[in-house]
Amino acid sequence: MRLFLRFIAGRHVVLILATLVVMLSGSRPPASAAGLAVSSSAWLDAYREPAARLIGESMASPFAWERLALMVDTFGNRLSGSKALEDTIAWAVAEMKKDGLENVHLEPVKVPHWVRGQESAEIVGPIPHALVMLGLGNSVGTPPPGVEGEVLAVKSFQELDAAGSRVRGKIVLFNVPFTNYGETVQYRSAGPSRAGALGAIAALVRSVGPAGLRTPHTGALRYIEGQPQIPAAAVTHEDAERLQRMQDRGTPARVRLRMEAHFLPDADSANVVGELRGRDLPNEVVVVSGHLDSWDVGTGSTDDGGGCIVTWEALRLMKKLNLRPRRTVRVVLWTNEENGLRGGQSYLERYRDQLPNHVLMLESDNGVFRPTGFGFTGSEAGRARVTEIATLLRGIQADKISAVGEGADIGPSVEAGRMPSMSLDVDGNYFLIHHTPADTIDKIDPMDMSRAAAAIAVVSYVIADMGERLR
Ligand SMILES: [Zn+2]
Repeated sequence: MRLFLRFIAGRHVVLILATLVVMLSGSRPPASAAGLAVSSSAWLDAYREPAARLIGESMASPFAWERLALMVDTFGNRLSGSKALEDTIAWAVAEMKKDGLENVHLEPVKVPHWVRGQESAEIVGPIPHALVMLGLGNSVGTPPPGVEGEVLAVKSFQELDAAGSRVRGKIVLFNVPFTNYGETVQYRSAGPSRAGALGAIAALVRSVGPAGLRTPHTGALRYIEGQPQIPAAAVTHEDAERLQRMQDRGTPARVRLRMEAHFLPDADSANVVGELRGRDLPNEVVVVSGHLDSWDVGTGSTDDGGGCIVTWEALRLMKKLNLRPRRTVRVVLWTNEENGLRGGQSYLERYRDQLPNHVLMLESDNGVFRPTGFGFTGSEAGRARVTEIATLLRGIQADKISAVGEGADIGPSVEAGRMPSMSLDVDGNYFLIHHTPADTIDKIDPMDMSRAAAAIAVVSYVIADMGERLR
């Protein structure tokens, strides 16, 4: 209730400000740092009114947040192969039809079906203590009694390799402090295979995230072809430090790891697709997207339920306001981003011949916190154009265009089609809750979701409608 009152109180101010800034920012020519007038943005003037309407409509209610809340409260988390994911997919199709979207359909995808099962880890000596853990996605399980061994903690791959023959028979702990996701996540994805290759019987990975709070972060590992596959789990920062201290004192812990993790045969799933068909050039397509699957902990609200809802909102808002752009806007809710990327791969296979007609692909998968703008990857001319369009978002402070705009699911098609790509940039502590039981909707501000939806709606509308195609 308090959130809602805050929303209502803030809403009028933001709405008025947003409308004023969008309407007025065209009355002065943009100036360079030197104070000289730069290229005119007269073409953009035609978009000030529709942009103000899209922003106004989105900011006028917490619709996006409430739709996400309904989704995650009803279905929970949505791992590939689960009934929850397939039920969510069926719900999304029905809701898109109710929204009046066009060409709403499923595009079938076979997905890996990994099942976690029961799992636990404990220090068995010198003195027994339970560890908080989460098995890593795609890990093999242990035999029913578990595997037990002495822990060997390392802080880098160099330390692992230097340990050489001492690795054999041990449970290797990668106790690597978080720097950034791209850098630290390699210990989760490649660490288990690299330890297995040296004879380790299992691997533990310090959770990939900026802070502890005794919360483990799961995520996929990738076994290296031809190397022994050993079971692997994430432990908390606190437990990793404890195991490290015990080793440093010369009394390394013995740990027992039990995991029932296993694969079932591939399961039937699908990407969800809905469109607003273009009024002049329906074959030219702007794709906006998020991934509907999630890990099997928490409710996958920021990763990536929120991304699905705010990109879907772009089409709902246009439809509601009778704004039909010249080109088609297509929303895709991907399946199986987390442990296979089969949704993104199957889109490439299905649409390979039509990629030349794809103007842009956008993915929102950085969480939905306060939007700051978009990342853009493409030509300099495209960047200049998108930077101009983003000035329409000054009123909601989402007008920054950063250096790189990419997404895991759009990646295969963007690369094959050599087209521009974008991602939503947000200001939030995404990696604090990423892949944890704490990825729940209470971390998301309803107004931030409305802002994000507005920003995606404006950018995708203008790019789908403008005279010259984005290059
Ligand atoms: Zn994600």
